[in-house]
Amino acid sequence: MIDFSLTDDSRLLVETVRRFVEAEVQPLEEATEHDARIPPEELKRVKTKAQELGLFAMNMPEDVGGGGLSCVDHCLVEEEFGKTSDALIRRVFGQVYPMLLACKDEQRGKYLLPTVRGEKICAMAITEPGAGSDAASISTTADLDGDEWVLSGTKHFISDGDIADYVIVMALTDKEKRARGGITLFLVDKDTPGFKVARNQPMMGHRGYGHAELVFDNCRIPASAVLGEVGNGFKLIMKSVLEIRLAHIGARAVGMATRALELMRKYAGERKQFGQPIGEFQMVQKLIADSAIEIFGVKMMVLNAAWEIDQGMEPRDKVSMIKVAASEMQGRVVDRAIQVFGGMGFTKEMPLERMYRDARVTRIYDGTSEIHRMLIARSTIKNGLTL
Ligand SMILES: Cc1cc2nc3c(=O)[nH]c(=O)nc-3n(C[C@H](O)[C@H](O)[C@H](O)COP(=O)(O)OP(=O)(O)OC[C@H]3O[C@@H](n4cnc5c(N)ncnc54)[C@H](O)[C@@H]3O)c2cc1C
Repeated sequence: MIDFSLTDDSRLLVETVRRFVEAEVQPLEEATEHDARIPPEELKRVKTKAQELGLFAMNMPEDVGGGGLSCVDHCLVEEEFGKTSDALIRRVFGQVYPMLLACKDEQRGKYLLPTVRGEKICAMAITEPGAGSDAASISTTADLDGDEWVLSGTKHFISDGDIADYVIVMALTDKEKRARGGITLFLVDKDTPGFKVARNQPMMGHRGYGHAELVFDNCRIPASAVLGEVGNGFKLIMKSVLEIRLAHIGARAVGMATRALELMRKYAGERKQFGQPIGEFQMVQKLIADSAIEIFGVKMMVLNAAWEIDQGMEPRDKVSMIKVAASEMQGRVVDRAIQVFGGMGFTKEMPLERMYRDARVTRIYDGTSEIHRMLIARSTIKNGLTL
């Protein structure tokens, strides 16, 4: 039996988040875009409210203070988050990387729990100037010296790297083994000697939070700074990115595209040219219809993969397909929305130009479209299409 209905709890959750995003978060978008900074007092107020409503760190299990959502509910919530900007999502609802669940003993009290409570900000540093898509080719090294690790290398494009209280750093602990047991994750505090934020790297979009180059120059950290086990860093990242890609890119893309569709739908009914609403012109209708079709398709893909994750499955190929389909769909829908609005769509008076810029990067980070297509093709050629 296939049952696509949502439970009453899920429906209530989605409605609560939707109302919160519309009433509390979207009004902060303009100032955040204008100043490239969320107004601090407003942020404090809205974040506190989100926490009081239990809307913070909802992806984390309840036993560490999170919302304990199923993957389906997490994706439904992220779809609503997608109706505002990434900077606001991070700060208001929390950016808690699932690999933090590998924290052990005192790491839990020092990193995991305060991050879930919204008291600490974490960044994740994998990419380097010489290693992007080929993440296993990193050159940052960690060498054991007595009871300390010595980190050396440079990371770049690191989201929140400029303000993070601590960073999860991916480094080589065995140059021969690399992805096969030679890569380890480390938890590095911001004020550790030898660690510095070298520069900010301004981006085309995603205004309101920073992206930074981080340098580790003989940075000494204790043996206890290993996240997970020595040598299992690559595996830990690969396991954690599945739900991140699905929820943060797949579901959020559906949310952003749905908001763009809603804007164009209303405008097509109000705006008159040649004596009639532009929504009565078939070419405008096509822009709306094509968007609705694509949003529906990706939404079903997201929920299907989320359900499989909830059943304990690991739908890697599907998540790659969703990463490509969602990010590309999002770009097309926002582009069509700008077209429906004509000159208005191109102005900074509309959220559409921000969405247009913000959407672009989703085809690049968390694995480019080309890398995911390569993975999908390899798997399909080997195994056929296994849905
Ligand atoms: C806004 C933003 C935020 C980011 N945040 C973070 C972060 O928080 N932490 C972090 O670690 N990283 C982060 N990144 C980095 C991001 O993950 C990388 O940019 C991404 O993995 C691509 O790597 P690259 O930029 O080095 O491109 P490259 O790997 O150099 O790719 C360049 C081009 O070559 C293509 N290409 C490469 N290999 C192949 C292949 N085998 N087959 C076909 N085509 C190929 C790519 O698809 C792309 O078109 C962020 C990037 C941006 C822009």
